[in-house]
Amino acid sequence: MKIAASSEMRLIELLHDLGIPAEAVFLSIDEKLVPETASVQKGQEVEIIYYKHVPPLSSPQEPRGHWKRAEYSKECAHCKSTPVIYLPYANQHLCSKHFKELFEKRVKRTVREYHMLNKGDNVGIALSGGKDSYALLHTLSKIRESLPFEMVALTIDEGIPGYRDKAIENARKRCEELGITQHVYTFKEEHGTTISEIGKKGKENLCSYCGVLRRKILNTKARELGLNKVAIGHNLDDVAQTAMLNLIRNEPLRFARFNEPLIENEKFIPRIRPLRNIREKEVAAYAFLHGHQYNSGCCCPHATSALRWSVRHELNSLEDQYPGTKSKIASSFNTLQKIVKDSVKEKNLKLNSSKEC
Ligand code: SF4
Repeated sequence: MKIAASSEMRLIELLHDLGIPAEAVFLSIDEKLVPETASVQKGQEVEIIYYKHVPPLSSPQEPRGHWKRAEYSKECAHCKSTPVIYLPYANQHLCSKHFKELFEKRVKRTVREYHMLNKGDNVGIALSGGKDSYALLHTLSKIRESLPFEMVALTIDEGIPGYRDKAIENARKRCEELGITQHVYTFKEEHGTTISEIGKKGKENLCSYCGVLRRKILNTKARELGLNKVAIGHNLDDVAQTAMLNLIRNEPLRFARFNEPLIENEKFIPRIRPLRNIREKEVAAYAFLHGHQYNSGCCCPHATSALRWSVRHELNSLEDQYPGTKSKIASSFNTLQKIVKDSVKEKNLKLNSSKEC
């Protein structure tokens, strides 16, 4: 969405006048990313890029707390270049080069911290073609330069007309450029139905069906291809949202099985989430700086009916007012995860399998 400023103002004020949390979008002027702390001249056009789904506009808000005080810097915190992003929790402006470097450093640190990758691993990357998997593909390709492991892309078409088609095409092109083998699977071929067909049968909460059916394909195909890990593009926002959803739905056991199955079984291929410590906004900006195209009008038509959608919106507003909120929720999630996991281990549960399993 492009908008012309009605007067000279800070971009954060423009966003708040429109009722859009800065956490939900990023901005560009003349196709260059600009931090929300920058000012815009009267009549100058600003492109507001929604990196996920278009959020409903809420009522205008005054910039509060941190954003009220945040001052624009014409220079990156590490060099003289023009900044493209402002990190409110660190009160830091960064240029494209230093932002990318910081991003990759943080992903590497996460990979080390959680012992996600080893030399010689055979990894399947869940590549939807969206910004998260796009950023994941790039960072894992970088990591591979110093830690050799095999990588193939697994792309799943849920059968949602007008939504996934373009993303799959983007994913195919990017795999070709990076020389990565891509396997594409469809719900229709693997499950005999599509998400749209399930929706037509009057089923509600389609995301629940979609998630289960997608995970099943990823696990089965990873086993068939002899992979020992599946990398997912979940970011910090996904972790914080999942934590809140588990609380809202009173499903504490789900805390324990976020990374791995509740009960260990050789039939479940472990999943890794290298972007889990990075805000969705930064993942989106990183993908944008690597040429990922955003299309505000193109989003899954079923997303807004899910509870996750409302949680996402609330967390974005909270992060806007209290930078660091998502990170703190994710830390609590890690602590709770350990407690629940230890208590499950004590019960020594066994997993029964059927003939079909
Ligand atoms: Fe599937 Fe829901 Fe994602 Fe749409 S928003 S692709 S239905 S999980």
